[in-house]
Amino acid sequence: MVEEQIVKRHIKDERVIDAMSKIQRELFVPPHLKNSSYDDSPLLIGGGQTISQPYIVARMTELLRPDEHSVVLEIGTGSGYQAAVLSLIAKRIFTIERILELKRSAEERFKALKISNVFVMSGDGTIGLSQYAPFDRIIVTAAGPEIPKNLLDQLKDNGIIVMPVGTEAEQVLLRGEKKEGKIEIEEHDRCRFVPLLGKYGFSDNGV
Ligand code: SAH
Repeated sequence: MVEEQIVKRHIKDERVIDAMSKIQRELFVPPHLKNSSYDDSPLLIGGGQTISQPYIVARMTELLRPDEHSVVLEIGTGSGYQAAVLSLIAKRIFTIERILELKRSAEERFKALKISNVFVMSGDGTIGLSQYAPFDRIIVTAAGPEIPKNLLDQLKDNGIIVMPVGTEAEQVLLRGEKKEGKIEIEEHDRCRFVPLLGKYGFSDNGV
């Protein structure tokens, strides 16, 4: 998977390649999809949600540029795969998931894998996690109409945020870097994520 889908598509960051070679994606998908674990696509993980395509996980991690000193906030734990990849590169990861069932199964996976630097919270990640802010890096793995202001406020100066922004149908991966309190935005790959639902995301229609 890493050779065909990641290295051949010009992901060069050795830390990303190394982390993705070590984390077994098959442990993050439902048992009946094991045979598709290393496919070049997102997969359903329950609750209508998906584990992202491996290339997208690699690309977002590369754009985020975490290092061993980074304290990272992730919005959208899902299966826990992205957080597990980050756990091998960053110092500590706080990850928020709105669906309790997904939060619980991700926690079980981290426990089974003896990953001890990932902390899973439940709730609406669009409001951030002020009690642990500010963060060196913020990664949003669901699509929103804009980068929530709360998240920008909770990003350290010289910090980086990566998030897919657009409509519910399609988005662009944005990478924002905070410089002297201001955010500088770059546009990267076109992509398609499940919606970020919540106060500063798309409306959740009471779901
Ligand atoms: N990073 C995940 C993929 C996540 S899919 C992985 O590696 O598997 C997006 C996830 O974001 C879904 O699980 C969805 O329930 C969650 N989500 C959507 N809106 C959210 C919000 N406001 N706060 C927290 N989680 C949210």
